[in-house]
Amino acid sequence: MNEILILSEDVANMVAAGEVVERPFNVVKELMENSADAGATRISVVVENGGVGMVRVTDNGRGILPDDLPAALQRFATSKIKNADDVYNVKTFGFRGEALAAISSVSDFSIRSCRKDYDGAEIRIKHGGTPSGVPAPAIEGTTVEVRSLFANVPARLKFFKSFSAEEREIAKFVRFFSVINPNIAIELSINGKNTYTATAGMDMTARAVQVTREKDLVYGESEYEGMKLSFVTSLATVQRYRKDMIIVGVNGRVVKDPSIVQAVVTAYHRMIPDGKFPACAVSLHVDPDKVDVNVHPAKTTVKLLDARDIFSFVHHNIKNRLDDAGHDQGVQMRT
Ligand code: ADP
Ligand code: MG
Repeated sequence: MNEILILSEDVANMVAAGEVVERPFNVVKELMENSADAGATRISVVVENGGVGMVRVTDNGRGILPDDLPAALQRFATSKIKNADDVYNVKTFGFRGEALAAISSVSDFSIRSCRKDYDGAEIRIKHGGTPSGVPAPAIEGTTVEVRSLFANVPARLKFFKSFSAEEREIAKFVRFFSVINPNIAIELSINGKNTYTATAGMDMTARAVQVTREKDLVYGESEYEGMKLSFVTSLATVQRYRKDMIIVGVNGRVVKDPSIVQAVVTAYHRMIPDGKFPACAVSLHVDPDKVDVNVHPAKTTVKLLDARDIFSFVHHNIKNRLDDAGHDQGVQMRT
């Protein structure tokens, strides 16, 4: 007799889903990152009832081959890496091949996709049940629709009493993502209302102005030993009560990186009072082998190998840009 059994794939996916999709916000993030990985230049996000009701992400990316569509929903199935070495040289947002398997095991899920010159295809799957394929129109790109999230995981659903808190978190992510990825046109609609639009014509500065609601922003960029930095940062006239508008991106990912935030904040030392903060968007591109994105399955934190170099690179560039701006624009700075 045996007591230890291997879980069925449905149950295994549902258990694993907890790590990838903790909240509706993670669904939006995973789907948008998939769209960006597919080379999309346009992403539209539709959210209803805190994302528990529905999240629908539509992109104009390269789409999935019809024969590949069932595999896209399998756990550890990915087109982005092939071997163990690749894990340490990830050029895409995704690589675990877990997101779609996880999301489709805890929602009423459909994915419709079409690659140029191929037929369209659609698969629906209800809370990890048996997938059913349906024909789909040949519209290039991909649409993923996620309804009734966590309906089969009541314990998790209980945590989402406030739809509006979840909607705020989603809106914040979409805004930040649009600043860090200015080459993608992005639209967000929540509960039938258009909440945010970043058009193709808006560059990083225009997007940062729109998202931070600050006008006194200057742009700068720099390259050093394979690191590329672009930033939009506020003049000393901007003195915010919180660090909530210091946006950090590493290789296109919106990340939480206290060290880079600190590099920004300290660049304003003696320029704005202690306890007040600038608005700033920092987008850093480094060699993929200098970032470890394996730290957390949801990938909101990454580990940077040359964290110290990066700190001074960011710090000095922002400080120099502010010094220049001070000379150009006569901003008063105490030294
Ligand atoms: P990962 O992103 O880690 O590879 P996912 O489960 O998110 O894993 O996606 C599985 C696969 O499905 C991807 O590797 C990709 O080939 C395909 N895919 C998912 N979303 C899209 C999309 N929006 N456009 C094109 N292909 C997609
Ligand atoms: Mg993915």
